[in-house]
Amino acid sequence: MAGPGWGPPRLDGFILTERLGSGTYATVYKAYAKKDTREVVAIKCVAKKSLNKASVENLLTEIEILKGIRHPHIVQLKDFQWDSDNIYLIMEFCAGGDLSRFIHTRRILPEKVARVFMQHALQFLHERSISHLDLKPQNILLSSLEKPHLKLADFGFAQHMSPWDEKHVLRGSPLYMAPEMVCQRQYDARVDLWSVGVILYEALFGQPPFASRSFTELEEKIRSNRVIELPLRPPLSRDCRDLLQRLLERDPSRRISFEDFFAHPWVDLEHMPSGESLARATALVVQAVKKDQDGDAAAALSLYCQALDFFVPALHYEVDAQRKEAIKAKVGQYVSRAEELKVIVSSSNQALLRQGTSARDLLREMARDKPRLLAALEVASAATAKEEEAGGEQDALGLYQHGLGELLVLLAAEPPGRRRELLHTEVQNLMARAEYLKEQVKMRESRWAAETLDKEGLSESVRSSCTLQ
Ligand code: ADP
Ligand code: MG
Repeated sequence: MAGPGWGPPRLDGFILTERLGSGTYATVYKAYAKKDTREVVAIKCVAKKSLNKASVENLLTEIEILKGIRHPHIVQLKDFQWDSDNIYLIMEFCAGGDLSRFIHTRRILPEKVARVFMQHALQFLHERSISHLDLKPQNILLSSLEKPHLKLADFGFAQHMSPWDEKHVLRGSPLYMAPEMVCQRQYDARVDLWSVGVILYEALFGQPPFASRSFTELEEKIRSNRVIELPLRPPLSRDCRDLLQRLLERDPSRRISFEDFFAHPWVDLEHMPSGESLARATALVVQAVKKDQDGDAAAALSLYCQALDFFVPALHYEVDAQRKEAIKAKVGQYVSRAEELKVIVSSSNQALLRQGTSARDLLREMARDKPRLLAALEVASAATAKEEEAGGEQDALGLYQHGLGELLVLLAAEPPGRRRELLHTEVQNLMARAEYLKEQVKMRESRWAAETLDKEGLSESVRSSCTLQ
């Protein structure tokens, strides 16, 4: 028996030690190979009686298939054994524990960390277009705490289980199960997207959306058709909120599709660590250097920052220590050049800002009889004021966008004349401001990522960004 009260079971060739955890169907132990290497592994003991009757055979076939899979974000299945009561899966040991523990010891994760985790976790599903059907933080493991790479566990099992059986329900899985799974008991691959939404929600807010004190309360929340509301704190980016809302759509036909999910700006698959990251970063640097030589500081700065967005994942991807160091040294140089360019760009920006303000004063004089225009100009001035505050970029951007919306409507109705010309200039100025700010916000994020990488070495950036919070 593999029950917790019974101590570790015996198994040929291995010494089983501490219990690492237990999930819905199994108990997992840390173990050492008796032979030469004394390799550390994790052994998962699945009681045969917890499987559907017809499933044992299928499961064994599935295990054979899983044994053939090697992927950086899948827990590797090395081998398996069985006896009359249990099936034993001998797996790669993940020293970092599971995502559930990772989240809860940190309370919440910053968006950037959550994003890297999502990209890791979904890479495999995306590449092979297969479903997991039981995604939850307990089934997502971390390779180590120093270099936390995510690995999906419990693969290929869900098909063999009845997810709504008593065991599953009692162990709290419905927290991550799509409503159609519980209510209709019929579902397809789209349930994974719901689960991803719940995991993301929990990573960012500290608890899943249906967190409940009792099973009755939980069931009510699952069966209700209320829209899932997102807490206001911590404040999240607009893209992140949008994605959460579209993942946590109860009706699977209205839920975000896989295609749209992978194309969503927050998921940002383009910047996911891959073999191409370095080439893309380098190509952007080449362009940046060219613009820099041409004296176009703003364009060069923007290109350097775009390049950094690929260097960060490129470093993530690189496993060779020497090559990693070489990339880091290069990145250091680009960051310094970007800093210099930033000084140049921001002083010319100050001049533009002053010009814009005096043009606006003139327009205001000519708008005395137009309260709506005056109000829109007020918004623009408020945006400019915010822009000069430290850290006010995001708010300023919102105000500019709001002001622009109003002014564009007014411009359309404005008869030809001097005021129309000024209005037109104002709209163009505001658009330029908004663009500039967008770039600034992006650049700050890139710099942040680069700094993290400088201090800690990139493979640790995930961890360090957690402690930065
Ligand atoms: P179940 O099928 O019962 O849900 P899991 O495979 O999810 O079993 O494992 C249960 C728990 O055991 C996980 O949540 C995790 O904490 C721990 N665990 C599982 N596999 C490993 C592993 N390879 N390395 C380290 N811990 C593991
Ligand atoms: Mg599990």
